[in-house]
Amino acid sequence: MGTNLIVTGMVLNAMPIGDYDKRITLLTKERGRITAFARGARRPNGQLLAAASPFSFGEFELFEGRSTYTAVKATISNYFRELSEDLDAAWYGFYFLEFADYFCQENNDEREMLKLLYQSLRALISERFSNRLVRIVFELKALSINGMAPYVFSCLGCKKKQPLVGFSVRRGGAFCEACQKNAAGCESIDADTLYTMQYVISSPVEKLYSFTVSECVLSRLERLMREYKAAYVNHSFKSAKVLEETEPDSFFC
Ligand SMILES: [Zn+2]
Repeated sequence: MGTNLIVTGMVLNAMPIGDYDKRITLLTKERGRITAFARGARRPNGQLLAAASPFSFGEFELFEGRSTYTAVKATISNYFRELSEDLDAAWYGFYFLEFADYFCQENNDEREMLKLLYQSLRALISERFSNRLVRIVFELKALSINGMAPYVFSCLGCKKKQPLVGFSVRRGGAFCEACQKNAAGCESIDADTLYTMQYVISSPVEKLYSFTVSECVLSRLERLMREYKAAYVNHSFKSAKVLEETEPDSFFC
């Protein structure tokens, strides 16, 4: 006989199975990214009807079988219902879920990613931050948590902490005045854009959403992240395509 296990986590996606059931993917504190069978989750008055939906965050009681988990009960503390009333924000939210689904693994410590996901969804709902900024912060921090952040605290060439004035996507980091001439694909980077990247990479997740940037800096960050992801993330996200169709074109300044 298996044992029941309580995990804290968020539903990343839910797939219908047959007429009444679902298979859900959960990002949990305790077991990383896992999938669980949710029996009766599509029945109109099923216990798991609301719980087995994307964005639902809370405690899930799981029956742990030999090779599968089955959701038995859930106590949801946040459904992020605001996202169902704001289609634009919801698409960003779905993109974050897909991003986390791609990067997280079973039995891996994914607590930072779970925290990032939670805080980023809250920031999407908040009026204080533009969705485009939340996306940039989420992407850069997610890459950083997964050990893929660009090198931005000292010069990638000479390792000295002199003023950094260039950034090379190909080399994956920033360069000083002297070294940038020899760095492949190096372009100039302004202090605000660089500082924003440093802040996102070095701040704890709880303090990430505490600033805004000018439209100009946001456009530069978007362009840089687009190129950086193209170079280092070998995956195309379905939900990102929708975002690209709805996002305004960045302007150059
Ligand atoms: Zn240098």
